Amino acid sequence: MKEFVLNKIANQIRSCQKCQLCKNRMNAVPGIGSHDAKIIFIGEGPGKDEDLQGEPFVGAAGKFLNTLLESISLERKDVFITNVVKCRPPNNRDPLPEEVATCWSYLDAQIKLIQPEIIVTLGRHSMVRFLPGLKISDVHGQAKRIKGLYSDKQIIFPIYHPAAALYNPNLRVTMFRDIAKLPILIKKLKNERM
Ligand code: URA
Repeated sequence: MKEFVLNKIANQIRSCQKCQLCKNRMNAVPGIGSHDAKIIFIGEGPGKDEDLQGEPFVGAAGKFLNTLLESISLERKDVFITNVVKCRPPNNRDPLPEEVATCWSYLDAQIKLIQPEIIVTLGRHSMVRFLPGLKISDVHGQAKRIKGLYSDKQIIFPIYHPAAALYNPNLRVTMFRDIAKLPILIKKLKNERM
């Protein structure tokens, strides 16, 4: 049932014409992964490769995201990966506030359906939607429990955007260190439930 509804949301996204981003897209990019995922990864918006393939994080940044997942023994099929906006902003510009606001209902519906224990935000543009006012350089790799967001147990876990680490070896190290905290966090949440 959950899978059916997730596909239905994806089809709504694919035919969406609610904002100007639909005009230049090759493909909308609803998201990929498991409807039962405990972790959802949220980037900013599709780039060129994602627009061509209709799948999030398939370019260079996506390859690094896959490597990060592998480092904690996860695969893309174990999690759900999506973006704040589902269509590529022209020339990879930042999504406009009205585009984010218009697209929000889709992300909101995906999160409410999947009910992940942990929302991993990738980069500051995704982070500010969940943790407004915070700086990613201050809070990356720190689990934040936000009351009343989706449930009392919802954890936001902000990390840097994988694209930022592509040409920055120091940031790569930081990102491996940050993501290594996820399995510990999952174990902690499991113990809390027992
Ligand atoms: N960057 C993002 O934020 N999302 C993608 O899907 C690809 C690159």
